[in-house]
Amino acid sequence: MTCGHLAAAEAGCDSGFTVDASRVTFGRGVLAELGERARARGIQRAALFTDPRIAAQPWFAEVTRSLAAAGVDAAIFDAVAVEPTDASFEEAGRFAVAGRFDGYLSVGGGSVMDTCKAANLLATHPAALRSYVNAPVGDARPVPGPLAPHIACPTTSGTGSEVTGFAICTWTALHAKTAVASPMLRPTEALVDARVALTQPAGVVAASGMDVLCHAVESFTARPFTRRPVASPVSARPLSQGANPYSDVGCREAMRLLAMYLVRAVNDGSDEEAREQMMWAATLAGIAFGNAGVHVPHAMAYAIGGGGHTHRPAGYPDGLLVPHGMAVALAAPAVFRHTGPTAPARHLEAASLLGGDTRGATDADGGTLLAAQVVTLMRAIGIPNGTSGVGYGEADIPALVNGVTPQQRLLVNAPSTITPEILGHLFADARSYW
Ligand SMILES: [Zn+2]
Repeated sequence: MTCGHLAAAEAGCDSGFTVDASRVTFGRGVLAELGERARARGIQRAALFTDPRIAAQPWFAEVTRSLAAAGVDAAIFDAVAVEPTDASFEEAGRFAVAGRFDGYLSVGGGSVMDTCKAANLLATHPAALRSYVNAPVGDARPVPGPLAPHIACPTTSGTGSEVTGFAICTWTALHAKTAVASPMLRPTEALVDARVALTQPAGVVAASGMDVLCHAVESFTARPFTRRPVASPVSARPLSQGANPYSDVGCREAMRLLAMYLVRAVNDGSDEEAREQMMWAATLAGIAFGNAGVHVPHAMAYAIGGGGHTHRPAGYPDGLLVPHGMAVALAAPAVFRHTGPTAPARHLEAASLLGGDTRGATDADGGTLLAAQVVTLMRAIGIPNGTSGVGYGEADIPALVNGVTPQQRLLVNAPSTITPEILGHLFADARSYW
């Protein structure tokens, strides 16, 4: 059994991995550097993507001041959909084409950063969005070359979009989440200001914290790169290239930080150390999953978040919603129980790094103990009890299984073959955990 370290590649599989390193500036107050950093990239006329709620934050004025001081002219696009769709990506693309910008800036959560990536792509290499979107929804056409410079500034401690080449949207006609995935989409720089985490509601920190946890654990337990069929040409490795020694570094440290700070960050908004460390854990896990790829919990989450539930989360705008990080968490324990036997030592190590008591345990207990520790953390931060906790019944399982079918990019990155029948069992197991 290989465990994703520098093991020999299996026949027909890859023997190398690519490190997609990100330029990251991290710390309190670094948003004030945006103007100078944009200027240093040669940006004179920027498209600035954000949303109206963020534009009203006190520190946002600092962003616009810093741009003005550096002589960077910025046109604001704030019509970003909370959950971007193909239509909202195309609208942002039209704004970008009309503006003739020489650079892109994004200040917001994953939706804002992903919309900015899509706009940059559609303006730099004009084509129908569908041609770039992952199969089976789109044609998965490779992005033909570099994009204009993009400086991404995340305002939540979750998605990691500032350091990845993914732009995720709902394909409205199919009611399915899909993505454009290319190293060309990865922002040129990330500016991570930990100060912005201090104003997030507890419910948002909880859901985004579980997203960070799943980015780290899924990347750590993904199919090892030595078991992924070699790409053709070999240099065209997918972003979801599988667990590898580089992604492992970020996963391990992110899990260690989650064990120390997740519960504190959710339960006490004045705990600046915990909220800042969660922002750093999110960055590390983002770098890791941008270089390895996530798998089944994220695939199931897109179905869970897709509709058919009755959940109104605290801390979010009013309305029915299962936040992305919450949806991933609801699937995770069931998946880790199932994948445990594929790499028992890795699952046991993850359970231990996340703060679980693994004394006296053997590798064979890895999946069970990892699932149990994830459940412990879910309970401690107020995540609902499985999919039944957000209103799904047993009769919804076939529709949920169907909702996962478009997520082939994620399913093939799982450590074992995932059939519709197995997904049915996983959704049944995910109905309640305590
Ligand atoms: Zn995620």
